[in-house]
Amino acid sequence: MDLTFSDSELAFRDELRAWFDDHDPGREPDHDEDAHYAWRRDFQRELARDGWAAVHWPVEYGGRGATLTQSAIFFEELGRSGAPLPANVLGLLLAGPTIMTWGTPDQKERLLSPILTAEEIWCQGFSEPEAGSDLASLKTRAVKEDGGWRITGQKVWTSGAQYSKWCMLVARSDTEVAKHKGLTYFLMDMEQDAVGVRPLRQITGESEFNELFIDGAWIPDENVLGGVGNGWKVALTTLMNERAGLGFFLQVRLRQLLDRVIEEAVSRDLLADPVVADRLGELHLKAEVLRLTAYRGLSAIEKYGQPGPEVSLTKWMWSDTNQQLSQFAADLVGPGALVAGSRWSYELLRARGNSIEGGTTEVLKNIVAERVLGLPKAR
Ligand SMILES: Cc1cc2nc3c(=O)[nH]c(=O)nc-3n(C[C@H](O)[C@H](O)[C@H](O)COP(=O)(O)OP(=O)(O)OC[C@H]3O[C@@H](n4cnc5c(N)ncnc54)[C@H](O)[C@@H]3O)c2cc1C
Repeated sequence: MDLTFSDSELAFRDELRAWFDDHDPGREPDHDEDAHYAWRRDFQRELARDGWAAVHWPVEYGGRGATLTQSAIFFEELGRSGAPLPANVLGLLLAGPTIMTWGTPDQKERLLSPILTAEEIWCQGFSEPEAGSDLASLKTRAVKEDGGWRITGQKVWTSGAQYSKWCMLVARSDTEVAKHKGLTYFLMDMEQDAVGVRPLRQITGESEFNELFIDGAWIPDENVLGGVGNGWKVALTTLMNERAGLGFFLQVRLRQLLDRVIEEAVSRDLLADPVVADRLGELHLKAEVLRLTAYRGLSAIEKYGQPGPEVSLTKWMWSDTNQQLSQFAADLVGPGALVAGSRWSYELLRARGNSIEGGTTEVLKNIVAERVLGLPKAR
C-alpha cells in the first residue's frame, strides 16, 4: 500500500494540527477521577464546537464525512497533541456508528447529536460475571410486556457507567432458541431506580469500570436497536468498531510513552548501556511495526468495507508492547517507579488490563490463528 498522504489528506492534517495548536486542553488533573472526566468532557465539547468530535461520522449527523485515512490522521494527531481521549469515546466510536447502521430514523434523530456534544454519555453493557469472551452465553433477561421490555440481570466491567445516560445493553429475550439467536440489543436509559451502578476499584486505585445491577429496568419498544432477536449481529457491529477505531490513537500514545522512556534513559546517562540500547531498539522496532500494521488494517477496510482480522493483530501487538514498555520503564527508573501515584507506577499497573480489555490476548490469538493463518478451529 502507498503510505504517502495525498494533497487533500495533508491539508486535512495541517488544518487539524493548527486547531490543536490553538486549543490547549490544559494540565491533566491528577488523582481526581471526576475532575479528570470533566477535563475530557470539556475538551470534547471544544472539539464538537468546531466539528472535530467525530470526523468519521457523515456530515448529515454532524461529522465531516472523513475518509478512513483522514480518520486515522485524526487519531494520530489527537495522540500527538497530548489532548485527552474524548469523554464520550464509547458513544463516538461504538454507539454512534451502531445506531447509524441499525437505527430507525427516530433513533438517529434523538440520539446521535447529544453523543457529539457529550451531553449524553454512553457505556457498553456487554460483559457479565459469567459471559466475557463467550458473550453469547450472557444471562441478563429481557421479558416482553405491553409497550416494552422488563430487564433483570447483572453486567460487569462497564466502563464509564457512573457518568452515563445510556447503555448499549445486550440481553436474552428468548431462552427457547440457540444462544446466539435469543439476544436483543437495547438502548437502556440509565437514569432509573432499577439500574444500580457500583464502581469497582482497580489495581491503579481508580474506578474506570463498574458493576451494573439491573432489577426490573424498563426499556420501551422504541429503544430496541436492529430488531428483536437480532442482538448478536448488532453487537458484532459494535465490537468491530471497537477494535478498528482506537488503533491509531493507541499506537501514537505508545510512541509518546517510548519517547519518555528514552528521555529517562538519557537523563540517567544509560543510552550507551548495551542492555538498555538493545531493549529500546526492540521497543522502537515494535512501535514501528504496530504503526504499519495499523495502516495495513486500514487498507483492508478500504478494500472490503469492514475491519478484517488484522485489527485483532494490532490490538494484541499493542497490549504486548505496552506491557513490555511499562515494565522496562519500571526497570530503568528503579524503586521510584513503585511509588504509589507516580507516572511509571500508574503505567505499569494500568497496562496489566491491556491484554483483557477489548478482547483478551488468548481470544485474539485464536482469531489470528483461524482467520489470518487459516489454522484449524480451536475446540
Ligand atoms: C479496563 C477494562 C475495561 C472494560 N470495559 C468494558 C466495558 O465497558 N463493557 C463491557 O461489556 N466489558 C468491558 N470489559 C470487559 C472485557 O471485555 C472482558 O473482561 C473480556 O471480554 C474478557 O472476559 P472475562 O473477563 O469474562 O474473562 P473470560 O472470558 O472468563 O476469560 C478468562 C480467561 O480465559 C481465557 N479464554 C476465554 N475463552 C477462551 C478461548 N476460547 N480460548 C482461549 N482462552 C480463552 C481468556 O483469555 C482469559 O485469560 C473491560 C475490561 C477491562 C479490563
